[in-house]
Amino acid sequence: MLVTVMRGPRSFTAEDVVEIGAHGGVVAVKRVLETLLAQDGIRLAEPGEFTKRAFLNGRIDLMQAEAVIDLIRSKSDRAFAVAMKQAEGTLSKRIRELRQSLIELLAHVEVNIDYPEHDVAEMTNAYIRERCGKAVEEIEKLLKTAKEGKILREGIVTAIVGRPNVGKSSLLNALTRENKAIVTDIPGTTRDIIEEYVTINGIPLRLLDTAGIRETTDVVERIGVERSRSALEEADLILFVLNGSEPLHEDELELLGKLKDRRMIVIVNKSDLPQQIELEPIKAIVPEESIVRMSVKAEQGLDDLEGAISALFFEGQLESHDLTYVSNVRHITLLKQAQQSLRDAIEATEAGIPIDIIQIDIRNAWEQLGELIGDAVGESLIDQIFSQFCLGK
Ligand code: GDP
Ligand code: ZN
Repeated sequence: MLVTVMRGPRSFTAEDVVEIGAHGGVVAVKRVLETLLAQDGIRLAEPGEFTKRAFLNGRIDLMQAEAVIDLIRSKSDRAFAVAMKQAEGTLSKRIRELRQSLIELLAHVEVNIDYPEHDVAEMTNAYIRERCGKAVEEIEKLLKTAKEGKILREGIVTAIVGRPNVGKSSLLNALTRENKAIVTDIPGTTRDIIEEYVTINGIPLRLLDTAGIRETTDVVERIGVERSRSALEEADLILFVLNGSEPLHEDELELLGKLKDRRMIVIVNKSDLPQQIELEPIKAIVPEESIVRMSVKAEQGLDDLEGAISALFFEGQLESHDLTYVSNVRHITLLKQAQQSLRDAIEATEAGIPIDIIQIDIRNAWEQLGELIGDAVGESLIDQIFSQFCLGK
């Protein structure tokens, strides 16, 4: 057994910390825990308690603490890297800079408020418009990353659809390289939606295998069909699988038309067999770069599919990003509020509203941004955030 003492404030929580390294195995750890818990004043940590203490002691800010939750939950290397960046405080740094610029603006306005001459007021208004305009733009940039951030965190919800026997389950298996979905020659045997996570070039996909689009009288199958309909609605990405060795079916063409505005990739499968499918009607609906010929069986075309997916979601630009993403609903809401406050301030300068009223808008923005990093947030919010932890980190 190894006991390490770390004195505050140079520990994770900024408090004195004792770490006990016990020998491997459940029994040894359990013994140590039992012995410790028998002592007065010693109890198990609540979920997230260490991180919460680190936050309350000013060791990390709220965004960084939230990033620790993301780290624990991350489902891909990239999501992990993004959370890691946030934990290091890159996003917080940008928020701090924004707040700093607003404080400087407020100070500037404060100085000029004592000079009620008309031209000073005009100059101050122009200055407010310029500075607030810049801040609005900066926030807009952060909000733009939100969509990608969400994708990286939660995965692209992907529905695989197509008539029975076109190769949906085989594709799912090829992507997961496991055999969790049942593959069979009997049409309509994929009865349920099976969820699976895969990573394509660092992009996490949450794959939903569906029971196919065929109408059926079989009750069990119908439930599957209904479920796959709702899966279709919630999907960010649709992989529409066709059998290239057969002519295109009327219902396939119809569904393709219905889905034409969605992010979709048409997979023309079974390219190892003689081809009978007509591609022209599909090209009339779907852009050519979103049509991928492949043979799941011969393991051909998977690379093309991966390329098509990253083109669709990241315009092939994913690698060049600096991994600073806004990906949290709380953050997005506060950023939007701060942006609105700043827009209100700009509007007010144009409407000739007195400067001391405009100051309130700017102050509001400053406070909303402060809430992001945990300046002046209520206890209930803190409790709510830290209760999301599932581990004693
Ligand atoms: P699903 O009903 O759409 O899920 O289709 P399955 O994945 O169950 O596949 C139906 C049949 O097609 C199985 O016998 C697969 O082995 C076969 N299959 C799937 N992909 C290919 C392919 O690329 N080429 C050929 N020749 N057969 C395939
Ligand atoms: Zn299937």
